[in-house]
This record gives sequence, C-alpha cells and structure tokens, in this order.
Amino acid sequence: MSKRDYYEVLGVSRNASADDIKKAYRKLAKKYHPDVNPGDKEAEAKFKEVNEAYSVLSDEQKRANYDRFGHAAFDGTGGGFSGFDGFGFGGLDDIFETFMGGAFGGFGRRSSKRTGPVRGNDLQYAMEISFEEAAFGVTKEINVSRLQNCSSCGGTGAKPGTSAETCKHCQGTGQIRYAQATPFGQFVNVKTCNVCNGEGKVITHPCETCHGKGRVSKNSRISINIPAGINEGQTISLRGEGEAGLRGGPSGDLYVTIHIKPHEIFKREGYDVVCDIPISFVQAALGAEIDVPTIDGMVKYNIPEGTQTGTVFKLKGKGIKHLKSSIRGDQYFRVKVEVPTKLTPKQKEILRQFADVCGDEGFEEKKGFFEKMKNIFKDQH
Ligand SMILES: [Zn+2]
Ligand SMILES: [Zn+2]
Repeated sequence: MSKRDYYEVLGVSRNASADDIKKAYRKLAKKYHPDVNPGDKEAEAKFKEVNEAYSVLSDEQKRANYDRFGHAAFDGTGGGFSGFDGFGFGGLDDIFETFMGGAFGGFGRRSSKRTGPVRGNDLQYAMEISFEEAAFGVTKEINVSRLQNCSSCGGTGAKPGTSAETCKHCQGTGQIRYAQATPFGQFVNVKTCNVCNGEGKVITHPCETCHGKGRVSKNSRISINIPAGINEGQTISLRGEGEAGLRGGPSGDLYVTIHIKPHEIFKREGYDVVCDIPISFVQAALGAEIDVPTIDGMVKYNIPEGTQTGTVFKLKGKGIKHLKSSIRGDQYFRVKVEVPTKLTPKQKEILRQFADVCGDEGFEEKKGFFEKMKNIFKDQH
C-alpha cells in the first residue's frame, strides 16, 4: 500500500509554518478522534495517518529528512514507524488541549469546570406603570417565579444530615482515564465519569425537597423602586435577584423593563409633557383665564385676546423630573379653537350683527389672502 504524502494528509503546503501544521493537525485529529467516531474503522485509519504525518512534520529534523528523502527517510530503520516513537503523550496532550477549549464537553480539564460554581440565570420581567407613576416614581411589588437555593438542604442537594460523597468511580475527578493500545503505542483516553456525570461527587441521599438539585422553583415577591423620570422601554436591573447559582455560584440578575400606559390627556417628549386644550372661539377672541391640567393638578392660565388656534404655551418646570437630577422639564399646551355647531337662531342673529359691525376688520390673515388673490386673478376679469 502506497503511503500518502504527509503534507497532503494534513492538507498543508510544503512550506507551511510549524503553526499551520499544528493547526491543521488539531483540526483533523479532532475530526477523526476515535471518541468522536466510535466504531468507525475509516476514521480510525485516518486518525492514525494524521498522527503519523504530524509526528514527522512537527519535528524539524524529521521534517527536513522527509523533505529530502520522502517516506524513504523512515524506511528500513524499523518498519515504517521508526520516526514515530517521539509521538508518545505529547501529541495527545495537544489533542486534549484542543478538546478542552472547544465544543467537546467531558474531556480533560473541562470536566473539572463542571464541578465548579456556576452563576445563576438572569431573569427578564416586563412591567406596565401609569404615566403619573413614571413621572413621580413608585414602589411596586412583583411576583417572580425563580430557582432559589433549596432551604431544606442549603443548596447542596443532599438530605439534611448527609452530604455529597466523593465519587468512588472517578475518585472525585469527574473523569475516567483509560489506556488504549494502538499500533503507535499506548494511548490514554479521558472520558467524563458516567457515575457522577463529571461532577466528582454523588449524592447518595438526595434532599427530598429539591430531589438533589439544590435549587427549587419558588414564587418570590420582590419590591422594585421605580425612580421618578423613568421613560418607556428603560430597564431597571436588580443585582442578584435572578436565579440562584449552582454549587455556590452567584445569583443572576433580574431585569425589569418599564412600559408606560398611554395617558388620556398627556403625552411625553423626553422630560416635557405636552397636551392639547380646546378653547371656544369667543375665549380665543376675547382672551380668557382657562384651567390647564398638569401632572401636579389644575393651574390657571391667561390666554391673551386674539389667540389663534395651534398657539403653544409653556408652563415652565411643570414637566417631569429628570432621572438623575432634581430639574424638571416643562409642560407645553397647544390651544385648539373650537367653532360652535348647532347654533340657535338667536345666536346666529348675534353673530350676523357682529359680522355687519366688523366686516373684514381684525381678520388680518384673511384680508392679506384676498389681496393676494385679487392680484393673481385680476387679468381674468
Ligand atoms: Zn434541597
Ligand atoms: Zn465520578
């Protein structure tokens, strides 16, 4: 059987750097590793081929010999694998290192991580509050269903009075090492301990409350201080109010996102409050003292005579308190002049008299408009 070129086996060029060779090797070793391909003879053959190629190309001296003489460099000196005794465990450590950092759970040091503390999950909560509550701040209580440390066992998962025992199967390491004979020498494999699932400890008497999990789902009432000035979509974070951690790990956080119910009168623009206020055409013409709603209650405001529809007035400091200072925004209200409908005959009569008396006087905009119109259309008459 003719041997494949070592560079070809690793899929690298002849002038590949040591680093490139290592990378290519790790990738292939991972792909064809017997643990990943149990019982697959072809993968096993590939794995051997890859290891052999790497053992030569990763060694400067051997690589130089191979470059000069090809496979012949290693022939006749002990049956093809003479250059292979340097392989040993070094190469395998490389593989395990790769596995530990990668997507392969249950190998080597990675499993020791599984026995360490794990931070609890963060929780999200959406809350609706009123316009006024957002403006002035409010304290709310919410019900949160979350995993908490089991109070019966204190989070250990072991029945009170007992404790988790070191796993005898793996001596608490969470992993099982076993030797495997291969044509290249002894091969040490590492597997996650299936007795303790890599935890290193087994609970022989599980806590009855949490069934050995150490955490239970519980409803908790949590009080939330919502500061004055909070706006739509803003989030309050409560450190440590999420789910309990595992094995002494810290709790996650609770995030409460605020939604503000629309108000019947007010709208919000940043820290300013805006609203529309209808006034009668008589109030607009004569001027009037009107009641203006604010978030603090009603205030009186004098509309000057001759106020046009759409005019905006400002009430300084009547807006919403800024989140991080005591400054308040302003309130703006826009008047909408309402023309009466369903006039009585008497009212109509009075308005006709009014029209007779004033004609176009005082209607400056209207007058100006008719002047312009006359100029535009004068030639057409
Ligand atoms: Zn418990
Ligand atoms: Zn174990």
